[in-house]
Amino acid sequence: MYRLETIAEDSFFIQFTNVAWPASANILVIVDDDGLNLVDAGLNGGETAIVLEKCVAELGFGLADIHSIYLTHGHTDHVGGVNFVKRFAAPRVFIPPGSMAEACDPKVQENAVLPDFVRTIAPRLEHYDILDNFRRSCGDWVLDGEELEPLEEGLEVAIGRYRFCLYHTPGHDAGLTVFHEPDRRILVTGDLLRASPPGNSLPWYSSSGGGVVPYLESLERVAKLEVERAFPAHGALNGDFAVQVEKTRGFLVRREERILEELSQGPRTCEQLDVLLYSPMALEVCPWYSSTTEAHLARLVEQGRVAREELEYRLENGASRPLQQGAADD
Ligand SMILES: [Zn+2]
Repeated sequence: MYRLETIAEDSFFIQFTNVAWPASANILVIVDDDGLNLVDAGLNGGETAIVLEKCVAELGFGLADIHSIYLTHGHTDHVGGVNFVKRFAAPRVFIPPGSMAEACDPKVQENAVLPDFVRTIAPRLEHYDILDNFRRSCGDWVLDGEELEPLEEGLEVAIGRYRFCLYHTPGHDAGLTVFHEPDRRILVTGDLLRASPPGNSLPWYSSSGGGVVPYLESLERVAKLEVERAFPAHGALNGDFAVQVEKTRGFLVRREERILEELSQGPRTCEQLDVLLYSPMALEVCPWYSSTTEAHLARLVEQGRVAREELEYRLENGASRPLQQGAADD
């Protein structure tokens, strides 16, 4: 169900062992003289509520001691827990500016995960009620915009005795920001990196979240950071950090290669490509994977390598340049 890991005497990591949607985001807890800081807040209610209360008690605190919450981005499985904590405390809540609107406005959240255009090229999703899914799986997640404070990139944030440098890493989400502690070589990766165990739905990305090229650039940026321990929002990251970054990059590269290989056989629809790229279970649980397929197709169309006619995509001039080369040329 969960693991409570002690990182140091004043920092703890609550890792939820379920990573299949709907899965609560992991929560980093940092103790300071005033009480508790959280990085990400998980879902509102359910397992998150029980586990958070239990872990906080184990550390000798109560939920009322949570005075600050820092959000890596505005997806519902990260922000919902803020509303749970607010039943017991009045925390300051910080969020990257690029995620502020989606955390407060259901329409913006919907567009961040399932843009209208994706519904037109994946007709099975035309009337799909994604907000109903989020309400049922994440609880009442909509935050009060008046209470949010922006976390700007480049800002150094002191949380307890830790000094985090913030890096904006769009692709998965327009606002996604990772927190790096250079002295202790810690990185809080949010949803940037694919982590263990299997069942993890990452890496996931949409055009409205930044798309393929910004995602690859984000990976390149974090690859340059000195990291001994990385803390992902879903699952656990162990072993060499460079290998973990490369593993996530490999998912993007392989997906695009498979799309190009498939299109070399003839025109295909987004939904046909979905079936090729993701398992039936993944598509059943997270039908918004089509947004990730669309992010690749949008980039290929923009490059003039693929053309769309109604629902079908086809290769232009049979060109199938690999993604690595394409990314380097951009
Ligand atoms: Zn996310």
